[in-house]
Amino acid sequence: MKKRIAILLGDGIGPEVMQGAVRVLQAISDCFQHDFIFEQGLIGGAAIDECGNPLPDTTLDLCSKSDAILLGAVGGPKWDSTTHTIRPEQGLLRIRKELGLFANLRPVNAYQPLIHASTLKKEVIEHVDLLIVRELTGGLYFGKPSERRGVNKDLAIDTLVYNVKEIERVVDKAFQLARKRRKKLTSVDKANVLESSRMWREVVNRVSANYPDVQVEHMLVDSASMQLIYRPEQFDVIVTENLFGDILSDEASMITGSLGMLPSASLRSDMVGLYEPVHGSAPDIAGKNLANPLGMILSVALMLKFSFGLEKEANIIEESVMKVLTDGFHTGDLNVQQGTQVSTTEMVNKIIDSI
Ligand code: ATP
Ligand code: MG
Repeated sequence: MKKRIAILLGDGIGPEVMQGAVRVLQAISDCFQHDFIFEQGLIGGAAIDECGNPLPDTTLDLCSKSDAILLGAVGGPKWDSTTHTIRPEQGLLRIRKELGLFANLRPVNAYQPLIHASTLKKEVIEHVDLLIVRELTGGLYFGKPSERRGVNKDLAIDTLVYNVKEIERVVDKAFQLARKRRKKLTSVDKANVLESSRMWREVVNRVSANYPDVQVEHMLVDSASMQLIYRPEQFDVIVTENLFGDILSDEASMITGSLGMLPSASLRSDMVGLYEPVHGSAPDIAGKNLANPLGMILSVALMLKFSFGLEKEANIIEESVMKVLTDGFHTGDLNVQQGTQVSTTEMVNKIIDSI
């Protein structure tokens, strides 16, 4: 299979974890005779330094022509100061918007060898296998007006807007994903208070008619946030709007206790997607060969599965990660007492050996 993959290294540990991801993909393409073409583009702080723009047009063009995009991480203290009006994160927001990546997917699984690394009890997390689908291009983060008013600018306004089409497309994607999993969909809203949530619920109920095999439930976001750490194993697929999804997906990422392990995908209808680890640029450990590359490597597995339909190859990567962890190898970020601590490159070597 021939595929063009845009490689956006970004900042901090981005380049280090990306190097691992590309090596893993090369190993996969050697085994299965795929033709993966890697093309690099600038994004984030690195792009600001190079050309004063966190998302240069050349990068956007490259991404538009690619079958999938891999992103390391963007941001860091170098570009944080208040004198900087151009920020690395703007590059990320813009690429999602320009490419119409409206569904953000974050799977959360309990990895048996890491169960004791979580702050939650073993019994609570050992069967966790859930997927959060967050709407990414609408809602409070993009609604207009969003401004300060008043003589003393003492009034702040943000606006929560959704139209039916925006809700339909993300809900439909969530139903499709649930159908391939345990066939349960939990839609999270605040329908007792918000009009947009009441419309969200109507759309979910209407779309559900096309998926009679999928069990649907509605849950209020306050209740969902409690249930997520109380009994997380009850969830299969969760679908929700942008702000609620932002909060719930960070909460869920802590269930298994390891930010460095978690992958994410941002998709549109044709399944072109941007894949990145959940963690940020981790400037404190950048350049030290300490970063956990597994979140990035598992993002590669998501890309193979969702954008390319290569289930078998994706499973091999996921099984290799499990095997290496079971063998006791781990990077320093994982709170594991036994086993062997390894560097970023050693971890990648172990995964490739296993592949
Ligand atoms: P951002 O604003 O980009 O989301 P953040 O400040 O919220 O970044 P991260 O940079 O993701 O947070 O990480 C917080 C801390 O967790 C890091 O400083 C680092 O110590 C640790 N960390 C994050 N990702 C990894 C990783 N892949 N490997 C090892 N440690 C990590
Ligand atoms: Mg963060």
